[in-house]
Amino acid sequence: MRKDVRILLVGEPKVGKTSLIMSLVSEEFPDVVPYRAEEITIPADVTPERVPTHIVDYSEAEQTDEQLFQEISKANVICIVYSVNNQKSIEKVTSHWIPLITENTDKDSRVPLILVGNKSDLVEHSSMETILPIMNQYSEIETCVECSAKNLKNISELFYYAQKAVLHPTGPLYCPEKKDMKPVCAKALTRIFKVSDLDNDGILNDNELNFFQRTCFNAPLEPQALEDVKNVVRRNLIDGVCDNGLTLKGFLFLHTLFIQRGRHETTWTVLRRFGYDDDLELNQDYLFPLLKVPPNCTTELNHNASLFLQSIFDKHDKDRDSALSPVELGYLFEVFPYTPWGPDVYNTVCTNDQGWITYQGYLSQWTLTTYLDVHRCLEYLGYLGYSIIAEQESQAAGIIVTRDKKIDLQKKQTQRSVFRCNVFGDISSGKSGFLQAFLGKNLTRQKTIKEEHRSYYAISTTFVYGQEKFLLLHEVFPDFDYLTDADLLCDIVCLVYDGNNPYSFEYCANVFKQYFMDSKTPCMMIAAKSDLPEVKQIYGCSPLEFCRRHKMPPPQSFTCNTAAAPSREIYAKLTTMAMHPHARLRCMCTCNRCTFCLCQNFLNSELLQTVRAKVYAVVRRRHVSQADMKTSTFWLRASAGAAVFALLGFALYRVMLKTR
Ligand code: GDP
Ligand code: MG
Repeated sequence: MRKDVRILLVGEPKVGKTSLIMSLVSEEFPDVVPYRAEEITIPADVTPERVPTHIVDYSEAEQTDEQLFQEISKANVICIVYSVNNQKSIEKVTSHWIPLITENTDKDSRVPLILVGNKSDLVEHSSMETILPIMNQYSEIETCVECSAKNLKNISELFYYAQKAVLHPTGPLYCPEKKDMKPVCAKALTRIFKVSDLDNDGILNDNELNFFQRTCFNAPLEPQALEDVKNVVRRNLIDGVCDNGLTLKGFLFLHTLFIQRGRHETTWTVLRRFGYDDDLELNQDYLFPLLKVPPNCTTELNHNASLFLQSIFDKHDKDRDSALSPVELGYLFEVFPYTPWGPDVYNTVCTNDQGWITYQGYLSQWTLTTYLDVHRCLEYLGYLGYSIIAEQESQAAGIIVTRDKKIDLQKKQTQRSVFRCNVFGDISSGKSGFLQAFLGKNLTRQKTIKEEHRSYYAISTTFVYGQEKFLLLHEVFPDFDYLTDADLLCDIVCLVYDGNNPYSFEYCANVFKQYFMDSKTPCMMIAAKSDLPEVKQIYGCSPLEFCRRHKMPPPQSFTCNTAAAPSREIYAKLTTMAMHPHARLRCMCTCNRCTFCLCQNFLNSELLQTVRAKVYAVVRRRHVSQADMKTSTFWLRASAGAAVFALLGFALYRVMLKTR
C-alpha cells in the first residue's frame, strides 16, 4: 500500500482554493483568507482510507511558475478548481490548466485530475453540462464535483474523492470511451476467478464465494446478500449465474458494475489481495517473498505445500486417470503468465504410457524446481495463489530450508527428503540412458526422445527402509572446462563408464582423482551397457581394483536395454548411500531380507544405538580425560566411536551368519 497521498489544488485566482482548504480544516467558512494556505497534513487515522494526506495550495501571487511545476510533478492527484459562476475560470480548465499539467508530468504515469466547481451556493444551475464533455475528452479526469466552501457542501467528499483517485484509480480498470472493463483488468480478474474456483467447474458456488469473500474482505457474505448479488447478475445477464453459482462472465459483470457505480475500491481490494499492484501486475513482494537459504542447506516443499499442489493436481485431473494430459496441464497453467514447464519436463519426470505426467512425476517436477531454484518455485506458487488458498503468510511458508549438511554429517542423520546425485562419465558412456531408466524408460523408448526435448535432470522417488525419498539425478557435461560448483556439490557421485568401450573407464578414474578422492561425498562406479559383452578397460588397473583401492563399492553393472522397464534397484542403493554417507556399505542391496539387510537394519536400530552409546561412553571415559572433551577433540572421539562401531558390527554380523 501507498505511504501517503499528496493533493494539489490549482486554478485561476479567486476561485476559492484557499477557502476550500480552510473550510475543510476548520469546518467553517473563513471570511478572510491569505493568498496561499500552508501545506497541511491530515494524519492517517482521521482519513477514510487511513493514509496520511498532504493538501497543498497554489497562489499565482506568491509562487513562481517554476515552483508551480515542481508542485505539479510532486502531486499524486491534482484538483483543478473553477468557480461555477465564472465562465472564464471554466474555459481556463482546458485552455490552460490541463495542457500545463500534461507538459509537467510523465507521459507513462499520468496524474489523476479532479474538476472542482466551487461556489455552488451562488448559482441555481449546475455546471455539469459544460463539464461532462471535458470529462469525456480527457481520460485522466477521474471525476468532477461541485461544492461550496461557504456552506461546506461536498468539501470532505472532494478530498475523499481525491484520496480515492490515488489509492484506487479507475484508469487501469476501466475504459470510459468503451464503457467497459479494460482487458488487463479482465485478465487479472479471470486469473482470480480460476484460483478461487477450487473444484474447477467454471462456477463459483456458495462455498467458494464465501471463501473468496472471507479472504478479500475478512467477512463472510450473509446468505441474503449472496442471493441479492446473484439476482443482480441474473437480471442483467443470461449466463452470469449457472447451477446457483457465479460464472466467470457473471463475476466480470459484477466487477464492471462495481466500477461503473464508483465502487471500484471493491475491485481494487480483490485485486490487491491477490497480489496485483497499481499497474495490474503481480507485485514483486508477493511473487518473491524473502527466503534466506544459507550455504550447505537445500530447499524442499513442506507437507502443507505438497497438499496444496496435490489439490491443484486433483482439480485439473478431470478424467481421474492420475495423470495430466497436455490439455489438462494447459488449463493448470492458465493462471501463469507464461508456460513454466518446457517439453523437457516429459524427460525429467515419470510419465504414464501415453507420455503424460503422472501425479508422482508432477510432484517430482515441483520438488526439482524447489531444490534447484527456490525463488522460481515461490513465484510459481504465487501464480497458483498458494498463500491465499492455503491461508499462509506467504509462499515462503511452504518451503523447508534444511539444516546445514555439515550438521547432518556430524549427527549422522538427516531429515532431508531430496538427495542429489551427479552423474559423471565420458561422451556416450551411458549417462542419459542411466537417467532415463530411472523414469522407467528402456532403450527403445529413449530412442524416441527428440534431441531438443532431452533433459539433463531426472527426478523420481525411491524407498529407503520404507520411507519415500526423492533422488535427483543430474547429468554433468563431460568437458572438465565447463564444470561448475553445482556440478561438484551433491550427496552422491555416480561415475559411469561403458563396459563395452575399453577407453571409457579412464575418464571416471580421472574425475574421481581430480575431484572426489579427498571429498566426503560417497561415490559409486556404474558399468553401463552390461547387455553388451564386457571388454578389458585400458587403464593402470581394473575398475574393480580401482574401487577396492579407493574404498568404493564394486562397479555396479547396469543396462537400460531391457524388454520391460529397467531395474530400479541401483537408484534405491544410491539414495541409501546418499542418506547414510558414513556407512561403508559393503553390500549395497536393500531387499530387507538378506543377512546384510537384516544386519544393517539391526545396526540402525535404537537398541543398538543405546548399547553403542554406553560402550562409547565407557571407552571415552577411559581414553579421554574430561578436560579434553571440548570440540577440538571431536574427531578423536568420532574415530574412537567408529572403531567400536566397526568392531561391534562385525561381531554381530558373525553371530547372525552362524544362526542362519
Ligand atoms: P483562491 O485565490 O482560489 O485561493 O480563492 P480564495 O479562497 O482566496 O477566495 C476568493 C474569494 O471567494 C474570497 O472572497 C472568498 O471568500 C470567496 N469564496 C471562496 N469560496 C467561496 C464559496 O464557496 N462561496 C462563496 N460565495 N464565496 C466563496
Ligand atoms: Mg488562494
